[in-house]
Amino acid sequence: MKNVKHAKCVKCGKIYEAVPNLTNCSCGGILDIVYDYSYIKGVLTKETLAARRDNSMWRYRELLPVEESTPNTPLRVGWSPLYQADTLARELGIARLYVKDDGINPTASLKDRASAMAVAKAQEAGAGVIACSSTGNAASSLAGNAAAAGLKTYIFVPSRAPKGKVAQLMTFGATVISVQGSYEDTFELSRQAIDKWGWYNRNAAINPYLSEGKKTVGLEIMEQLDWQVPDYIAISVGDGCTIAGLWKGLKDLYAIGFIDRLPRLISAQAAGCYPINRAIETGADWSPMEENTLADSIAVGVPRNADKALAAIRESNGLTVEVTDGEIMAAQKLLGRTCGVFGEPAGVTGAAGLKKLCGQGKIPADATVVSVVTGNGLKDVANAINACGEPISIPGDMELLLKAFAENGIVVE
Ligand SMILES: *Cc1c(COP(=O)(O)O)cnc(C)c1O
Ligand SMILES: [Zn+2]
Repeated sequence: MKNVKHAKCVKCGKIYEAVPNLTNCSCGGILDIVYDYSYIKGVLTKETLAARRDNSMWRYRELLPVEESTPNTPLRVGWSPLYQADTLARELGIARLYVKDDGINPTASLKDRASAMAVAKAQEAGAGVIACSSTGNAASSLAGNAAAAGLKTYIFVPSRAPKGKVAQLMTFGATVISVQGSYEDTFELSRQAIDKWGWYNRNAAINPYLSEGKKTVGLEIMEQLDWQVPDYIAISVGDGCTIAGLWKGLKDLYAIGFIDRLPRLISAQAAGCYPINRAIETGADWSPMEENTLADSIAVGVPRNADKALAAIRESNGLTVEVTDGEIMAAQKLLGRTCGVFGEPAGVTGAAGLKKLCGQGKIPADATVVSVVTGNGLKDVANAINACGEPISIPGDMELLLKAFAENGIVVE
């Protein structure tokens, strides 16, 4: 990889050769992939990108840690739409709002970006089996992307994982272990099994290549905005890999001169589980919390990538915000009604946080904001129905339709 120098521990600074099956540093710290930006500047220009037909995350190969000979993964991951959301911007009282809908990815979440990277690196490592533990989306995205590439998967999920995500896993032919316990218990069991059998490890914050896949969401946002930097980007946070990846992508673009400033990140967590935000707000080290929210994808009491996430929020002079399950459900409805975008609870938590900050007057009225929807609502229909209610239910009779409209105050224009 001519574009990659090495991997470096974010804790102790130790340098590692960027081999495909990198895990944590011997000190326990997480590794970060370090690029040769002067090389990349020589081979990648905005014009080359603009002319590129590849509408997937692999359009950014020069900024990704893969060998030139490694094929693109088969499913089309990335290049999700960035919608200008004028109605919602007006409702929130801000000048410009864009909604990045990452729920349209092949397995319907932003995790596909990391899983596609995991599949590419497993192939470089010559591995035929990949394993991970996950709150649900990393699991289903790994199972799907691996299935398409002909790799076998062992997947560990907590028993609370929503049915839609488990259905994806079973459909993609993964061997699925539903762990009767918390995400923490699930992670621990997967760690032991991976040690025992030597599977390629797609665990969040263990494999440093994953956030390099996730960073493509930041690269895309900037290219889709024609390199005009927004003031804020709001996103939900669980383990912290997503926000850290987003920040890495933005910093890459800054390093190669594609953008001339950096946005502030908005880290949105659930009020029932916010260890990363609590660390920012108190200035203390992070400490574990209970996993008390319906937003299952961000119910992470022991964040695996706290170091990188905290650094990203601090470096960006970011904002933190916690939202209740009620506010998350309201945001689900709001995004649906104003944008036609259907997000799962964790998927809309960034938008819920943005709405809360706007209500508190913390976002200037002239701000340009991007809100990332990280997962699709069809993954968790039970919570969507809880949030948005049941339809009018009547027999097929016109008289009863008129009566139901009258009773519900519906006036047809
Ligand atoms: C995983 C996930 C997140 C949070 O990503 P982390 O890397 O765990 O912080 C947010 N939303 C959805 C839908 C997810 O699946
Ligand atoms: Zn180290």
